[in-house]
Amino acid sequence: MHEVFTGSFTQQEPIPEAGIAAALAVMRHGRLHRYNLAEGEAGEVALLEQEFAAATGAHYCLAVASGGYAMACALRAVGVRPGDRVLSNAFTLAPVPGAIAAVGATPVFVEAAEDLTIDLAHLQTQIARSGAKVLLLSHMRGHICDMRALMDICDAAGVSVVEDCAHTMGAAWDGVATGRWGLVGCFSTQTYKHLNSGEGGLIVSDDSQVMARAVLLSGSYMNYDRHSASPPPELFDGLRLDVPNISGRMDNLRAAILRPQLHGLDERRARWNALYATVEAGLEATPGVTLIRRKPQEGFVGSSFQFLLRDWPAGMVQTVLAGCRARGVELKWFGAAEPSGFTSRYDHWRYAAPVRLPQTDRLLAGLIDMRLPLTFTTGDCALIARILRAELRAARQAG
Ligand SMILES: *Cc1c(COP(=O)(O)O)cnc(C)c1O
Repeated sequence: MHEVFTGSFTQQEPIPEAGIAAALAVMRHGRLHRYNLAEGEAGEVALLEQEFAAATGAHYCLAVASGGYAMACALRAVGVRPGDRVLSNAFTLAPVPGAIAAVGATPVFVEAAEDLTIDLAHLQTQIARSGAKVLLLSHMRGHICDMRALMDICDAAGVSVVEDCAHTMGAAWDGVATGRWGLVGCFSTQTYKHLNSGEGGLIVSDDSQVMARAVLLSGSYMNYDRHSASPPPELFDGLRLDVPNISGRMDNLRAAILRPQLHGLDERRARWNALYATVEAGLEATPGVTLIRRKPQEGFVGSSFQFLLRDWPAGMVQTVLAGCRARGVELKWFGAAEPSGFTSRYDHWRYAAPVRLPQTDRLLAGLIDMRLPLTFTTGDCALIARILRAELRAARQAG
């Protein structure tokens, strides 16, 4: 009998009881807006910002409405203007080029390397070709490039780096948290990321000018003195009449849900990495399968798993996907002709007028992706790996 997996690849864990209690307290007192505070009250959003700044070692933190909003706000805050060109990974998710488009700028895509990170040689080429002064670097699916080498290239060329850490909250390169290498780090607290408030985003930076602009942009009205992880109020004097209000604040209800989750992030990273290691071990030495090797400096969070079916014909990949789906294993394929669900490819983003990138095309044609929600056990992951192995073998035998 064929083994079948019955778990759900989209089912996250429930909100911790402490988060539910804190959310109920906010609803009972009714002060959901971040600036609606009782005498002497700090507010859940300001406390979350303080705690996230401390967790990442950043001077400043701002909580906002989504990860996409965080990126667009960061781009505006670092000075991207309509008509500018902004470098970014060709292999990323749609909200990344979307954030560039939101500020009226144009993405300049950079090839993906074999380990799914940004190709540093091509980055240098694209910097020289485009003259772009900002890179929106996406740590897509949690894969982290050599951040020292990347910062050397960008610093030498005068390129500011905004990091998209939607898949790397809790992760580090060489002991330094992602989001702390560039000028600004952006995080998402959308349901499928590492903290879950349905929607939400966080911005961190050490730059007081950039952060003061971000706070004003987010819609602080003249309440920036109610932030406790922001630059001091006098820093806003020269800015407050010049920076537009583009409302995208976080509210106290979401922050209340997030704070207890943030405290448990280290424990959850350990569980994610145990799931990841189980799938990896189960797929070791599978004929035709290329695993993505993690570098020793990469302190990653294994919340999803990728592997390559390098140069497999599309029909054979589809046989694997169908075989796995029939046995309860939901895979995503970056090689599909049409975008589906959350998965799309740079050449699907027509508004960005993408130019063909042969190296990325070849890579994505064989790239398989799988979520590993924490509702899975290591036993589930061992079973998933057995099903994958069997279906991969069957597809190869069928040719
Ligand atoms: C989810 C995601 C984001 C942010 O998305 P939101 O849904 O706006 O919070 C950014 N980058 C990547 C790579 C993502 O997967």
